[in-house]
Amino acid sequence: MPAKIYHSPYPDVVPFQGDLTSFIFSNPNNTPGNKPSYIDVDTNAFRTYNEVEQRTLSLAYGLRELGIKEKDNVAFISPNSIDYAITCFAIIGCGATVVPASASLTVKELTTQLETSGARYLIAHSSLLAVVEKAVKSIPYLQVIQADGEHDKLGKSTAEYLASTCPASELVTIKPEEADSHLSFMCFSSGTTGRAKGVMLTHKNIIVNVQQWTRQIGGEWDRESTTIGFQPFNHIYGVHMFSCIHLFNGATVVVMPRFEFGAYLGAIQRYKPETLFSVPPVILLLKKDPRVTQYDLSSVKRIMSAAAPLSNELRKAVEKRFEDAFGTTIFAFQAWGLTETSPLASMVPPGRRDKAHTVGCISPNMEFRVVDPETHQDVEVDEDGCTLPGEIWCRGPNVTPGYFKNDIATRNSFTRDNNGAPWFMTGDIGTIDKDGYITIVDRIKEMIKYKGLQVIPSELEGILLGHQDIVDASVVGIWVEDLATELPVGFIVISQSSKTKGNNTVVQEIHEWFSAKVANHKKLRGGIYIVDAIPKSPSGKILRRKLKDSLTVMGGKI
Ligand code: AMP
Repeated sequence: MPAKIYHSPYPDVVPFQGDLTSFIFSNPNNTPGNKPSYIDVDTNAFRTYNEVEQRTLSLAYGLRELGIKEKDNVAFISPNSIDYAITCFAIIGCGATVVPASASLTVKELTTQLETSGARYLIAHSSLLAVVEKAVKSIPYLQVIQADGEHDKLGKSTAEYLASTCPASELVTIKPEEADSHLSFMCFSSGTTGRAKGVMLTHKNIIVNVQQWTRQIGGEWDRESTTIGFQPFNHIYGVHMFSCIHLFNGATVVVMPRFEFGAYLGAIQRYKPETLFSVPPVILLLKKDPRVTQYDLSSVKRIMSAAAPLSNELRKAVEKRFEDAFGTTIFAFQAWGLTETSPLASMVPPGRRDKAHTVGCISPNMEFRVVDPETHQDVEVDEDGCTLPGEIWCRGPNVTPGYFKNDIATRNSFTRDNNGAPWFMTGDIGTIDKDGYITIVDRIKEMIKYKGLQVIPSELEGILLGHQDIVDASVVGIWVEDLATELPVGFIVISQSSKTKGNNTVVQEIHEWFSAKVANHKKLRGGIYIVDAIPKSPSGKILRRKLKDSLTVMGGKI
């Protein structure tokens, strides 16, 4: 029987023919050049549209003079800043690929990402040089370019200086037939299993996804209004929303280098955004934090949530909070996607209140299947025309061609059927109703999401196993409704000799030791539990579901 394929209700978008930097600056809405595109929430420093384009072309010139050439991988580590997009599009304008790194990485984490990506250059913000200098010690071929200021401590020009002094560069031309294979970004994700991998995102992947998003949001998004960008700009959500969507559409982003809820509320009051692009834990704060009513948030008309699950209860509760506090009727809705889908794959159309409990319908140009993850057969459809839960598979022009220099992971994440392009297996379990609306109900891949940021169990397990008292370890995610996020929980088996110290002492020592080794979002906030054995299948696979279930039985302290 032929596979049941679900199609997007939208007409296809016609992919822009050209490179990503030219696309972003094609200015379809004739945005005035003197309009601010990025404003720093702390300093009020800003870049206008003209400045962003001018500085991008100048920085591209400067980077080429420094030797960056087509198909180089250029890592970029910086807190969110008004120059973030400029740096990305200048790198891409050289025909090179941006490898964005999280500003919270530890030395070891950054070294691993630099080595895995094969980056030959690293553009680094001065506030992160302590970590950067240690990380690059073992990578002698890597050249570091300081992002900000005029000169680095050796007197070399920074990216910021090059952007303001170099002549404008011609962009490297990407032939239309190359847009499908030439990479623009390489964002890191664990995918379904294993360690962090470089997700190859082509020019076409990112261009099409901006076009898909723009078609799906329709005329509902007021581009004149300003939005607040607090999500890390290195994550695909930040890349897509705050470097690409906003710049392409001519909107203004108020940039938060770090998230602080009071400052966020102050920015909403001051800049009056109509749409908040958010994540569930921040939506939880909007629903319950008493500070909300001390600010005027009446400009807000809609809140989009993405990157992690948002419960329908919380969604409705935040709508009610706005009604009670400000007398406004807002629409809270979800989008869903992954780094591998650039990221948008589905979104609730604005105003579809009857479907607001779902993650929306399929993005233009995409096709979905819902399959039994074991048998790879289509799941059954119930009497209401809704599928039973199954793994969501998808394909379309926004789907990555695979993981950088990792054929095994690529092969394990795609599957072919007899007709057309391979399917990407998302590792998310969901249903599709009779109208084509998707609900995500579970995740079968190992990935944990803490406040929308990826935490990779196998990476944390590897660290735990390096502790002298630990003989076996596993990490799973536990959903905590009160915090609207998952928390990573560690399970450890300790050595006979360490048992004499007492469990509390061992756990406390390990907590401190572990927290110093990982980025802030990877800390074992859900606790560390000592167990007799890590449950495993006969083939040695950790039975993570069993560990999750055991927490309820143990009356875990979460
Ligand atoms: P990332 O690659 O970091 O963007 O993570 C992608 C994963 O985040 C997806 O596979 C989902 O597990 C999760 N995710 C993203 N958006 C949603 C959503 N709206 N609801 C539930 N899970 C989501």
